[in-house]
Amino acid sequence: MLRLQGINAIIALVIFFVVLHLAFVPEQHVVRTTMSTLLGGIGFLLMTCSVVLATRLEVFEDMFGGLDRMYQVHRVAGTFTAVFALVHFFSIPKELPAGVDPLLNSTFPSAQIGMASMVLLVIGLFVALNRKISYSRWRNPHKVMALVYILVIGHFVNAPGIFFERFSASGILLIVAALMGTIALIYTMFGMNKRTAMRFTIEAVNSLERATEVVLKPVGDMLTFKPGQFAFVEIQGKEWSEPHPFTISSAPGEDRLRFTMKVLGDWTRKVREDLQPGGKVIVRGPYGRFDASKAECRKQVWIAGGIGLTPFLSKLRAMEESDDREIHFAYAARSREEAIFLDELKSLATDLGNVTLYPLFSDEGDFARIDKVKERLPGQLTEYEYFICGPKPMVDGLMSDLKKEGIKRRRIHVEAFEFR
Ligand SMILES: Cc1cc2nc3c(=O)[nH]c(=O)nc-3n(C[C@H](O)[C@H](O)[C@H](O)COP(=O)(O)OP(=O)(O)OC[C@H]3O[C@@H](n4cnc5c(N)ncnc54)[C@H](O)[C@@H]3O)c2cc1C
Repeated sequence: MLRLQGINAIIALVIFFVVLHLAFVPEQHVVRTTMSTLLGGIGFLLMTCSVVLATRLEVFEDMFGGLDRMYQVHRVAGTFTAVFALVHFFSIPKELPAGVDPLLNSTFPSAQIGMASMVLLVIGLFVALNRKISYSRWRNPHKVMALVYILVIGHFVNAPGIFFERFSASGILLIVAALMGTIALIYTMFGMNKRTAMRFTIEAVNSLERATEVVLKPVGDMLTFKPGQFAFVEIQGKEWSEPHPFTISSAPGEDRLRFTMKVLGDWTRKVREDLQPGGKVIVRGPYGRFDASKAECRKQVWIAGGIGLTPFLSKLRAMEESDDREIHFAYAARSREEAIFLDELKSLATDLGNVTLYPLFSDEGDFARIDKVKERLPGQLTEYEYFICGPKPMVDGLMSDLKKEGIKRRRIHVEAFEFR
């Protein structure tokens, strides 16, 4: 769900800092010093926001509209951090004014720490934005960013007083941010994964067309989740690498947890080829705010492309016959054979009564496009609220067509199946 509170809070924080910084400019500052330290401070605040968002805390999911959105903001904030750091570096006066003691309050060489952190930040950004570097290769090096954050704190806390006035209003704000960011970092590294971990055993591994359904039995309590939410799945064993996010395709209330995983790369292929019943799995979650039940509009259009079906599958499996929404569900797949769970969807739609299913098969000329949806809807496009999940090109195309048709952005909800 699109939520703007989080973005607005970040903007408000930055504006607050700018006002404080410009309202109490130290006497010895030249304009260049004021502006350069301002940019450095904004960069640090954005980096702190990025660090805080990595905690995956629920309160931020509510503010940003889900973990996928939090990671998008995390990435954008990280990019701007590097930009501000670079401009700060090139604009900061290299000579101190006459009479200023460079070692005042300085126990470490602030400039060198700043330089080292900036180089690491720029390398980190390059790696993060380079799609050719696979997720698994990127994941561990990305953890160096925690060290970079600590280095940046060391840089400004040890800067000569002319550049960083510890007891000025904006200086105190940066120190408070540094404390909160450090607590967030410690929590992410040592607490986050323990808080949400739940143990399961693999009960069944079912092969579907280009996908695998993994059925998990809880060892203790069952995970509590809402339809459409996702979780990180970590298969235990040396040969299994990092956790991967998957939408829970079963309904809350079932005594088993089901994930439907499309075969895409090494990990999902290994699931299909090697995963055996009896193995142990840790599931961390639930996350996500792709919740159609709380939408303002009772007339809804759901559009799923390929494996983007999973959140809708959970919603349909959980839906009660008393549900008063009017739902038009376009399920797009390359072909009839690739449309997994099609028979179950048809019978759910028939039983529920309020759901109309439109299968769209591209090999038959029916693509997941708005014109194809429009010709099937009984009402005008503007009467509905939209929920979309599928491959990025499909989602981007639908979003732009819906905007052209005059649908407001707040009426379009998207679940992104990627964090990077
Ligand atoms: C919120 C969310 C829900 C998802 N739900 C489903 C689902 O229900 N069914 C489904 O089939 N797929 C789902 N995915 C996608 C799934 O996570 C990836 O397809 C899977 O991790 C690919 O792993 P791979 O190593 O086989 O493929 P690769 O080719 O290595 O990766 C393909 C892409 O998947 C992403 N990815 C890979 N590994 C990870 C990881 N450890 N953590 C995060 N992203 C990663 C990267 O963007 C990468 O570019 C979901 C993704 C997200 C973010």
